[in-house]
Amino acid sequence: MKVKDKLSIIEKQIAEVCSKVKRKPQDVKIIAVTKYVSNERTAEALEAGIQHLGENRDDGLVSKYELLGNRPIWHFIGSLQTRKVKNILDKVTYIHSLDRHSLAKEINKRATTPINCFVQVNMSKEESKHGIQPETALDFVKELAVYPNIRIIGLMTMAPLTQDEMVIRECFRNLKALQEDINNLGLSHAPCTELSMGMSNDFKIAIEEGATYIRIGTALVGE
Ligand SMILES: *Cc1c(COP(=O)(O)O)cnc(C)c1O
Repeated sequence: MKVKDKLSIIEKQIAEVCSKVKRKPQDVKIIAVTKYVSNERTAEALEAGIQHLGENRDDGLVSKYELLGNRPIWHFIGSLQTRKVKNILDKVTYIHSLDRHSLAKEINKRATTPINCFVQVNMSKEESKHGIQPETALDFVKELAVYPNIRIIGLMTMAPLTQDEMVIRECFRNLKALQEDINNLGLSHAPCTELSMGMSNDFKIAIEEGATYIRIGTALVGE
């Protein structure tokens, strides 16, 4: 199926969920996660009207960036090794995986202007998942004030691997609560208004719970 056709299905689903929970569809931005697909398929997504692209590896991002050009659309969504920061920093507009001081320090050092970051939180506490523990997230965000080139625009999480909708929903709901707590601190380096949550299988639940960026791979650009 063409990306254009998949996109219209997803947009329809977003509109339905939004009307159910009284949100505006334009407040939910779609990031097309292109990590499994070719440069051609990525170009097709842009042609279909996609405005945000997500990659989880530095080499994948660099190769697509070189082909598709310098546009303000790139989201780095994967776990980021400190030594890879220099490869992507001048190419990305958003980093979704800030979860430790060493990474913040490196981003701050290499950046020439403030970088929009999401703090990744490990809400499900699964060992295999990256992200800061929820109990320490608030203090972590406060401590980031020392880095002039780090701007915390929101929080990101990945739902646990389960079919249990209630568990997934609770994960998203708790992230929203944490985002509001941080937003209420009124920190100038951390406006924290955004929520990056929801993927192909759970984006409807994420939108119901307040997602402002959904990261969709398979359902949008998959074959
Ligand atoms: C791969 C990936 C996605 C997209 O996953 P799909 O299930 O294919 O939609 C979203 N977020 C992150 C961090 C990913 O690595």
